[in-house]
Amino acid sequence: MRQSQWDAVVVGSGPNGLAAAIALARNQRRVLVLEGQERIGGGLRTDPSIVPGCRHDHCATVVPLAAASPFFRAIGLPERLVWVRSPAALAHPFDDGSAVLLWQDLERTADELGEDRGRYRALFQPLLERGDALLATLLSPAPGVIRFPEFPVPWSALLHFAREGTRSAIHLCQQFRTEQARALLAGLAAHSTLPLERVPSAAFALVLALCAHLVGWPLLRGGTAQLAARLIDELAAWGGRLQSGYPVHRLTEIPPARAVLLDLVPKNALALVGQRWPRWYRQQLARFRHGPGVFKIDWLLRDEIPWRATACALAATVHLGGTAEEIAAAERAVVNGRMPERPFVILVQPSQFDQSRTLAGVAVAWGYCHVPNGWQGDATDVIERQVERFAPGFRSRILARRAWGPHDLEMRNPNLVGGDLGAGWPTLRQLFARPSWWPWPPYRTPDPALFFCSASTPPGGGVHGLCGYWAARWVGRWLQRLDRVDRLKST
Ligand SMILES: Cc1cc2nc3c(=O)[nH]c(=O)nc-3n(C[C@H](O)[C@H](O)[C@H](O)COP(=O)(O)OP(=O)(O)OC[C@H]3O[C@@H](n4cnc5c(N)ncnc54)[C@H](O)[C@@H]3O)c2cc1C
Repeated sequence: MRQSQWDAVVVGSGPNGLAAAIALARNQRRVLVLEGQERIGGGLRTDPSIVPGCRHDHCATVVPLAAASPFFRAIGLPERLVWVRSPAALAHPFDDGSAVLLWQDLERTADELGEDRGRYRALFQPLLERGDALLATLLSPAPGVIRFPEFPVPWSALLHFAREGTRSAIHLCQQFRTEQARALLAGLAAHSTLPLERVPSAAFALVLALCAHLVGWPLLRGGTAQLAARLIDELAAWGGRLQSGYPVHRLTEIPPARAVLLDLVPKNALALVGQRWPRWYRQQLARFRHGPGVFKIDWLLRDEIPWRATACALAATVHLGGTAEEIAAAERAVVNGRMPERPFVILVQPSQFDQSRTLAGVAVAWGYCHVPNGWQGDATDVIERQVERFAPGFRSRILARRAWGPHDLEMRNPNLVGGDLGAGWPTLRQLFARPSWWPWPPYRTPDPALFFCSASTPPGGGVHGLCGYWAARWVGRWLQRLDRVDRLKST
């Protein structure tokens, strides 16, 4: 076999591309990462804001899955970062000026929920007993079958999760009597971008609340780019190389390597690989579905947000959508191709807890709502009206804004197809058979030297690096096979 300079080349430097590269480099493999943009990190980028001295995360800001990621923990990443935890993980305000808070402490959260106190405890207590192991199990390509060596499968917690999570969020909410509990769970489930009537939207509410109770919903001091910087350091320490400003359009542009890993969504991988994959596989990838897009606004504010429910100032993340029914209606409209008048808005107010992102007297915040995939309208007004609804006077504090529609997001990162932040819709079918059901595990492709490692593989979207970690395990096996062949040839 031709001796390549690289054992593996990774196309794309998002958290999954970097995690895959690190996992391989730590196994003495020669790794090169190629990134199309000038700056490394994909969804981990932090941008200089509209005003010098202020910073906005372009995508991820609240990174509980990074804090809980078994791979990031195994490489000692959490210890090398400064985590910022708001007192509460999440606030969810209502029109009457009240708010429900999700705290890291289970009892304190249950206490928020009045007569649903016991139900909330009964739902989460069994999940939390071996919460770390449960989360690690759920973040595997085949929960209960493939596992991290250090986390034995917590079978009873997994069964409880399967019972409660393999249903729709609406079904889950119906177990609760108070508006507070139902709205809290509906807002968590809405992160999935699935209609709340659809299975397994409940699983997203459970996983996000589980993270909140295990590790909080932390941010990184200075912005999420700090995480990218530590990953880059780690890769460099193991001899891996990075090349930015190197968009790959064809396989021939990739230096010779024994394996190529694609931190790409199927649509862009298809454009790059083309006929080298057989027709049946290309057809499978072409059927891969993207979910709704997002419309995001970065704000610079004169002072922090004037919440009517003052408790909202205790949480970095605020869910603006009112009741569970209202959130369900908004998400349903989006999936049906319509833009709701009152969208469900996920708002993050980082400077409230991390002064390093801004200047004295100025606050930074961002908010996004789901929009139909590829939507070309302007959601600025409906998003800001939702904020104003729960924080009268918000608009008068806006110094500057920068809006990102689906097209703008995709221009910045081709993985955000039509603005889909999840690299593919997490329907029941696309949860594990992602990006396709065959070959299995889905990091593999019919070409034994080509692999997927992006969030279009299990366990899907979010900053955890585990798609890359699991992909690297199968790439490692392929490289070992090539090593054996090389040894045989040389004897
Ligand atoms: C607005 C928004 C908010 C989000 N908020 C959060 C959050 O708070 N918490 C959280 O956990 N997650 C959040 N996410 C999701 C998270 O950012 C992604 O799930 C994660 O970044 C996916 O990582 P990845 O490595 O698979 O791909 P990406 O991070 O998308 O990285 C892919 C990289 O590949 C590069 N690339 C693409 N095509 C090519 C090519 N042809 N050649 C070379 N390079 C190429 C891209 O430039 C990019 O750098 C958010 C996403 C968005 C869009």
